[in-house]
Amino acid sequence: MQKCEPTQTPEIDHAALKAKYLAERDKRLRPEGQSQYLVTEGEFEDYYDVDPYTPFVPRAPISEDIEVAVLGGGFAGLIAAARIRQAGVTDCRIIELGGDFGGVWYWNRYPGIQVDTDSYCYLPLLEEVDYMPTEKYASGQECYEHAQRIGRHFGLYENAIFSTKIESLAWDEEIQRWRIGTNRDDDLRARFVVMCQGPFNRPKLPGIPGITEFRGHMFHSARWDYEYTGGDMSGGMDELADKRVAIIGTGATGIGVIPHLARSARHLYVFQRTPSYIDERGNEPTDPEWVKTLKPGWQKERQRNFHTAAFEAFAPGQPDLVCDGWTEVSRNLAAHLDATDGWAALTDPQKFAELRETQDYRAMQRLRDRIDAVIEDKATAEALKPYYRFLCKRPGFSDDYLPTFNRPNVTLVDVSDTKGVERITEKGLIAHGVEHEVDCIIFASGFEITTDLDRRLGIQPFSGRDGLSLYDHWAEGYRTLHGITSHGFPNLLWTGFLQGGVTASTTAMFEQQAFHIAYIIQEALARGASTVEPTAQAQDQWVRTVKETAVDNSNFERECTPGYYNNEGEKKRRSHLGEPYWPGFYALEDLLQAWRDTGELEGLVLGK
Ligand code: NDP
Repeated sequence: MQKCEPTQTPEIDHAALKAKYLAERDKRLRPEGQSQYLVTEGEFEDYYDVDPYTPFVPRAPISEDIEVAVLGGGFAGLIAAARIRQAGVTDCRIIELGGDFGGVWYWNRYPGIQVDTDSYCYLPLLEEVDYMPTEKYASGQECYEHAQRIGRHFGLYENAIFSTKIESLAWDEEIQRWRIGTNRDDDLRARFVVMCQGPFNRPKLPGIPGITEFRGHMFHSARWDYEYTGGDMSGGMDELADKRVAIIGTGATGIGVIPHLARSARHLYVFQRTPSYIDERGNEPTDPEWVKTLKPGWQKERQRNFHTAAFEAFAPGQPDLVCDGWTEVSRNLAAHLDATDGWAALTDPQKFAELRETQDYRAMQRLRDRIDAVIEDKATAEALKPYYRFLCKRPGFSDDYLPTFNRPNVTLVDVSDTKGVERITEKGLIAHGVEHEVDCIIFASGFEITTDLDRRLGIQPFSGRDGLSLYDHWAEGYRTLHGITSHGFPNLLWTGFLQGGVTASTTAMFEQQAFHIAYIIQEALARGASTVEPTAQAQDQWVRTVKETAVDNSNFERECTPGYYNNEGEKKRRSHLGEPYWPGFYALEDLLQAWRDTGELEGLVLGK
């Protein structure tokens, strides 16, 4: 592994850039916020339900009692089920919409898919299942295979239920179980339900007028139609050789797929509303000599180092183990503090924020300068420049993306002035009054990540004790104890971004939650309880703690161009981090450990 150096970044005119950032935000803000997107239900249901990778095989409905149902077979569900089984509860079934484990890595199979953060941090349980990723940024196929590996390692295939959609969840007081309704007419009665849908569960579509009028072919990137395009995850989409293709969306998905589409299609129109941050990828094969140096516990240590770069600040002399675009601002800040002997600034939050902001502005300018160096056409270069702060949107990395816009068969259509594509017609798409005729439209338009919970989950009804709707219960914000349990919803345990500690590796967060959930289930069963839930007081206290310790980053979010990170710029909505516990992921780890150590299950009520 090479030594990790700070990047060279240019001087900037801070005030002028700030004004430009705000103008670019204002240009894109849409008053309708999340409702600009269509939910993939009703006439758009196929964009979610239909599985292009596994044929739908009819089966008889299942009627049975289950001890633990884990809803979702992505990394969150796999880790939760693994820990629950390790805690001795073997009657634990994963129920999954896809035809196999993998979650996002099952569904997202577009050409070019690759994990966009350090594999050694992101891919979970590496030491436990004795696997080392082949590259620093593993391919989607390798991530998918890792999910399968975890499934096999912990025996989770044995009783998994695949190709099954959860439609309803209702607590049945009489039998003290959750009744799980599915699209297979199953009647599953689970004592415990563990929610593991993951944030990228449900694709969303842009609500562009005329979307149902198009007579050509359309699909979402999370349900890639290889039958139409030909090729596979490595590209080679021969069937597109005579096709004019439009792609809507230039986020992380667009960045991965656009270079491949450009190589295969007769012509590619890229409809871009907000340009992404694009840095070099710099992928490299895993160095076996480096692997030999690793000591047990290395993955957790690396994840913690990544967390420091993303959420805190490096201490003097602390190495940047991940060393990529995600850690650049922290790395450069550390170098600046070294050079100016300015480490004392870290004790002053305001000074720290100012210094970090400067490094952020300079890093973003480096990326804009890079675009000028790569893109031949000046107007195209200007349109591709991101004018917002680092982490307003998810950073993107690709060595192929920018050069793609120098190709003669690629047209960048900037739709920022019109806040998106104006209209879809029978023949194509309209931008600035011009119709671009195409054979196929691909939506790389993202997922229901921070939209309202009922949109995201699509579970109706979702009712706890006395028919209390979860969506009503959480209408004014989440109400949980430790982000895991909620009063009125016995035996329901949550993973994901809600009132918990957030870290740079989502899968590390799932591990923390899974461990705690397994402990609660194990203890409840060992104590002969049939129900476990938090008291209203304990829940309210946690909600207060979360609010009182919150760091107000609303200014940062407000100044960003809209997107799912800031709820499309809507003011009164929750952060994409789900009202996090701001003292942090590792503070929560200590708090949960101390809570478990007492053995008191403080704040939880066990019912017989
Ligand atoms: P995003 O939500 O990030 O991007 C959606 C894109 O669609 C944006 O470019 C958006 O523009 C555009 N869009 C939406 N509506 C319109 C419209 N009406 N007209 C024109 N453009 C429109 O979705 P992605 O699938 O790219 O990524 C979602 C997340 O999934 C990522 O942020 C990441 O967390 C994860 N992911 C991770 C990957 C990895 O690890 N490799 C790969 C892919 C995804 P605008 O920005 O203006 O809203």
